[in-house]
Amino acid sequence: MQSMQQRLDEARRYIPGGVNSPVRAFTRVGGTPVFMQSGQGPHLYDADGNRYIDYVCSWGAMITGHADPHLVEQIRIQAGQGLGYGTPTELETRLAARVCALVPAAEQLRMVSSGTEAAMTAIRLARACTRRDTIVKFSGGYHGHSDSLLVKAGSGVATLGIPDSPGVPEALAALTLTLPYNDAEAVRQLYAAQGEQIAAVLVEPVAGNMGCIPPRPGFLECLREQCSRYGSLLVFDEVMSGFRVAPGGAGERYGITPDLVLLGKVLGGGLPIGAVAGSAKLLEQLAPTGPVYQAGTLSGNPMAMTAGLAVLEQLTAPGFHARLEHYAQQLCQELARLAATAGIPFRYHIVGGMFGLFFTDQPVTDYASACTTDTATFSRFFHTTLQHGVYFAPSPFESCFVSSAHNDQTLEQTLTAASKALRP
Ligand SMILES: *Cc1c(COP(=O)(O)O)cnc(C)c1O
Repeated sequence: MQSMQQRLDEARRYIPGGVNSPVRAFTRVGGTPVFMQSGQGPHLYDADGNRYIDYVCSWGAMITGHADPHLVEQIRIQAGQGLGYGTPTELETRLAARVCALVPAAEQLRMVSSGTEAAMTAIRLARACTRRDTIVKFSGGYHGHSDSLLVKAGSGVATLGIPDSPGVPEALAALTLTLPYNDAEAVRQLYAAQGEQIAAVLVEPVAGNMGCIPPRPGFLECLREQCSRYGSLLVFDEVMSGFRVAPGGAGERYGITPDLVLLGKVLGGGLPIGAVAGSAKLLEQLAPTGPVYQAGTLSGNPMAMTAGLAVLEQLTAPGFHARLEHYAQQLCQELARLAATAGIPFRYHIVGGMFGLFFTDQPVTDYASACTTDTATFSRFFHTTLQHGVYFAPSPFESCFVSSAHNDQTLEQTLTAASKALRP
């Protein structure tokens, strides 16, 4: 039988680093990534048959757990009817209508195949509608890997410690301004200085790609106010938080309505998807009704639409998100207790079905404070829990996720594993 290292070596011959997305490479925590083979409910099984309680959940997408029977059944039926037609389908209308019913800012939406594409589309739309070029994002915020948005990005970029990527033209990067997350005063100052040049502010309303960091009271309100006052578009990147922190995402949870919302991950139930949503007036600027061009061969494909419908049906059940949050609360409170006993500095944040663990004694409110987390302690925690059958995100700069398949037993087993990791 092959070892994980041999599997990785083999993969590396054909795939850079052996991975098709950098965060999977265990760069930050060291060691060899685990090759997984199957998933069932809250569990993943690796290529050697070992079982793990999964808190990555395909980076948040699997909100109802792996191989969700309802979803699998719907997908099977749809697959038997063809994988795609390259024509409109009623499935697309049904999923779009469903999203518009749930997400406060959504009157219309355009389906794409990734969060990256959704963010690219939003920027083009914002630039076209405002006739301005400058966009604002926040350090540690991740909006996919398109040129304009890699500036001071989170997720894998933060994990690998790459400040900005080569290959992004300087002229383009210069149009992206970056501010510290949760800093309303910095936003006001920037707007006072050059508000009339800003096309859009892109923000993760709950930051999830520098660990999980909730918005401070007043921060999103300030963004809404400044954008409205200066005529910029407020874009909530809810690729991660959408359908996860509430049925209608952070927009619903915090009562702030952006101009555009980016969706992905949960929306596709584990299949590739993205969407940009907003008012009909804005969305109709996209081709074919408007002049702003955007297209996609597999956009709105029946498989992703079917998966999306099968998932969204379930997460509107009463108490769905409260149960995820309650689970995360029990888990994090107990982790905090174990860490305190062991004398290990520890903090956590929970918003709905996502949470973040930080090994620091400082409040974590932005990227700079997230970086105070002790990465060596994190790596030890990660590897010890992994050895004991628990798969947390392999980086201190990623969020962890709970699915509706996690239960009292997985909670107890997770805490047993954690007690081995959080020792004096
Ligand atoms: C995952 C993510 C993206 C990128 O989505 P992809 O489907 O990986 O392109 C964009 N924004 C946020 C907030 C994300 O979490």
